[in-house]
Amino acid sequence: MIDLHTHSNYSDGTDSPAQLINKALAAGVTTIALTDHDSVAGITEATNALRPGISLVPGAEISCQTEDGISVHMLGLLFDLENSELIQTMAKTRENRHGRMQRIIERINEAGIDISMSDVLAELSDGATLGRPHLADALIKKGVVSSRDEAFTEMLHNKSKFYVAHYSPKPAEAIALIKAAGGVAVIAHPMASHRGRTISYETFGDLISAGLDGIEVDHRDHSPDEKTALIKLARENNLVMTGASDYHGNGKLNLLAEYTTSNDQWDALRSRANADRVINL
Ligand code: AMP
Ligand code: ZN
Ligand code: FE
Ligand code: FE
Repeated sequence: MIDLHTHSNYSDGTDSPAQLINKALAAGVTTIALTDHDSVAGITEATNALRPGISLVPGAEISCQTEDGISVHMLGLLFDLENSELIQTMAKTRENRHGRMQRIIERINEAGIDISMSDVLAELSDGATLGRPHLADALIKKGVVSSRDEAFTEMLHNKSKFYVAHYSPKPAEAIALIKAAGGVAVIAHPMASHRGRTISYETFGDLISAGLDGIEVDHRDHSPDEKTALIKLARENNLVMTGASDYHGNGKLNLLAEYTTSNDQWDALRSRANADRVINL
């Protein structure tokens, strides 16, 4: 089974990369992509945890924002991990997430809820990308909410008065960076409408022109109708169709390999990278 979208505690997942590899192997996953938010910091640990029977696809989920403020997540897979432009862009995003968190906290404080940056940072593993799920964890500790899901539903969603965006590249820029680093670009959960606004078909056209390689079709956040529309779009534009879990450990309900990518789609996708960077034991 091939699962091309998972998170570790180098971003907002709760498993270490080694735990992730072990659980994936136990779940029957043969190929797993580690795609932490705006970071490849967990790839070394995941590589060191590899065992016979499972291969690792190096990757990252790049936060992006369109001109009109719509949040887009772009999976970059199989790129050169040393590529300085891509690394610098991810570093800039990660740094900006701290100032953004400070501003979200200020807004929450103004509403009379006592929470501080140090409370949030206490929930973050060393070297991990900071995100709203860490704030959610801090709010759980304070007894303000009882789960990450409740935190997002009640307070932290994209339309909330507490919401603040952070720097991130435009989706077409992220595609260009991933491609220049020799990798492949797959747009993650493009129709996940309950998270906030999603991109139009016109914007999709721009991304295809920029070199988009694939669309994540099979994902928990897509309805059957949304999948049907995405399959049509992929077929019309010769794009690869993937499926993946977007596993976050205990941080979300998503189970490893709950959606997967077929062997032929995976072969088509990996052949679009400029080198075979799948990591084996
Ligand atoms: P951020 O990266 O700070 O913008 O936070 C977005 C992250 O929060 C996404 O990557 C999701 O994995 C996570 N997230 C969004 N909604 C929920 C939810 N309802 N429960 C748990 N995690 C969520
Ligand atoms: Zn996440
Ligand atoms: Fe995402
Ligand atoms: Fe994700």
